[in-house]
Amino acid sequence: MRFSEDLLSWYDANARALPWRGERDPYRVWLSEIMLQQTQTQTVKGYYARFLERFPTVFDLAAADEETVLKLWEGLGYYSRARNLHAAARRVAAEMGGRFPATAEALRRLPGVGPYAANAIASIAWGEPVPALDGNQARVLSRVLAWEDVLNTPFDLVDPAAVLIDRQRPGDYNQALMDLGAAICTPKAPRCDACPVAAHCRARAEDAAMDFPRKRAPAAKKQQDRTILLVMLNGRLLVRRRPKGLLGGLYEFAALEGHYAEDGLRAALAEAGFAGIRIDRRLPDAKHVFTHIVWRMQGWLAECDGAPEGYSPVDAAQLEALPFPSALRTYWEIAKEAVSR
Ligand code: SF4
Repeated sequence: MRFSEDLLSWYDANARALPWRGERDPYRVWLSEIMLQQTQTQTVKGYYARFLERFPTVFDLAAADEETVLKLWEGLGYYSRARNLHAAARRVAAEMGGRFPATAEALRRLPGVGPYAANAIASIAWGEPVPALDGNQARVLSRVLAWEDVLNTPFDLVDPAAVLIDRQRPGDYNQALMDLGAAICTPKAPRCDACPVAAHCRARAEDAAMDFPRKRAPAAKKQQDRTILLVMLNGRLLVRRRPKGLLGGLYEFAALEGHYAEDGLRAALAEAGFAGIRIDRRLPDAKHVFTHIVWRMQGWLAECDGAPEGYSPVDAAQLEALPFPSALRTYWEIAKEAVSR
């Protein structure tokens, strides 16, 4: 039997039951694929259901305002995905009469649809035989092929992957490889003895599954010291909307680059335009790891008599309703308590 036949027989008997499985509606396939990027399947299930309930069609999503979309996305991370999702929905609704493009190449022109997502959507929704190469698929294929080169991107494997793909059932084939990577050919403990494609696998033949994919030494993440300030003004808390860039469009508390002793902090806040600052107390430290950067955060609670431009004072209910990044979760919880008193 061929590689793809063994893989699909296994998939037919063992496919994970997921809410988007068997779905061929391009809107739903697109939504699930964008959500699944860099996010665990278990986490996506609830978001997928809530999005579809709120926005049953691409027209509903296109008509929503950005803040509503970001609020519903809150906790999924990588917020540029949500902004791109919204922009793509608007384009499909306004310029394409609500019909998603029918080829991977055309799908790639939508905001936020990279080569992986385009191929996944085109294969699942339209049956186009293109490999959906993400890190998961690339790991499995690099083992099956005992691929010696370090992969710069999963698409370095596009030529052999295009030969292996099943041309009758490309969508199922791509999902089968994802499931195999999730259940059997896992990063740290591949279960070769239970693997349906073991007979085709060169890494297995060489008893060297863990040696693939070949790796280069990882680059160190940039460490950034930040001070997060919960500043109260007349019993309400000061927040502002982040500009474009990292976490753009979400809300945040007052923040300064670097760490400070109390005196230095008072001076820095005065320089930033806060009037009559009174430091209340130091809050717990927190850390958040992004893809390329690590925030090492120190927090403070303070009061002031006047805030610089751009800040709005909010009460507990307003705070609950605004989209905040999970990077600020620790301080958000403390803020909720402080503003509810
Ligand atoms: S035989 Fe082992 S290394 Fe090869 S695909 Fe299966 S689980 Fe992965």
